[in-house]
Amino acid sequence: MDIASIRVQTIHADWLSAKILSLDILRLDKIDTVVSGNKWFKLKHYLQEAIAMQKNTIATFGGAWSNHIIATAYLCKEAGLKSVGVIRGEQPTVLSYTLAAAEEYGMDLHFVTRLEYQKKNEIVRQFASNDWYWINEGGYGQVGAKGAAEILQLVDPDSYSHIIAAAGTGTMLAGLLSSAHPRQKVVGISSMKGNHQLYDQIMHLIVENKPMPSLQIMHDYHFGGYAKHPQQLIDFINDTYLRHQLPLDIVYTGKTFFAIHDLAEKGFFEPQSHLLMIHSGGLQGNSSLPPEALVF
Ligand SMILES: *Cc1c(COP(=O)(O)O)cnc(C)c1O
Repeated sequence: MDIASIRVQTIHADWLSAKILSLDILRLDKIDTVVSGNKWFKLKHYLQEAIAMQKNTIATFGGAWSNHIIATAYLCKEAGLKSVGVIRGEQPTVLSYTLAAAEEYGMDLHFVTRLEYQKKNEIVRQFASNDWYWINEGGYGQVGAKGAAEILQLVDPDSYSHIIAAAGTGTMLAGLLSSAHPRQKVVGISSMKGNHQLYDQIMHLIVENKPMPSLQIMHDYHFGGYAKHPQQLIDFINDTYLRHQLPLDIVYTGKTFFAIHDLAEKGFFEPQSHLLMIHSGGLQGNSSLPPEALVF
């Protein structure tokens, strides 16, 4: 894993110059092919806290292609902690790429039905152990947001009018909001269909009482739902790679880049806006596609 390999990529395209916009991508995906950028930031303080509390095991939740699960497994291995993943759905005969890798990093996988998975408090109670440190699904929480707040230290804070990022739990957006300049605008692209609690979920994580940037959440770029990836999205991701050598994932960053393009064309950003998109990683999740689906 290599924080020093993070870099900013400037996108040159007619759809930007036509509206007098600039767009930079903060390539957190460059940290590692497995541990996607935003998960590294979100998890680091949880692991530190667990170690400080002398816990020996990190336990958390996720699905078969979860970036959070694979990142937790990897980082626990590095930190010398045991890890447990409570996985949504029956145990499959063949593990997904993500789960096989998590297991290889030493994670203990426990499969629970979708119904059981909804009752996370009960699962935590069943597994109760004083040596375990639990992290919410997706790393949701203030400790995660604190790590995500460090993302903007990687760029010149005055260079951008808009910070744009994908949202699942909203933890990354909470961190970006608390670290962006109040003059900047934070735009979140929700990967889920109709997740209208997202705004409150994010605000719940903001502890400081200081002027905040504005937050706008877009709910129209889910492409049918969280894990949905219609051909239109796949084609867009391939096209973006061929034009800009920018690899995107099908769950988060592909939808976010699409949204930026669409919003730009619709005149959402004022002329002269300087946009920064956070490439939050997640490329390992593309392994859920047939091998020839993507050009990269
Ligand atoms: C987990 C993840 C997100 C969402 O982050 P939240 O903090 O849950 O909103 C966005 N992009 C990628 C690539 C992710 O893996």
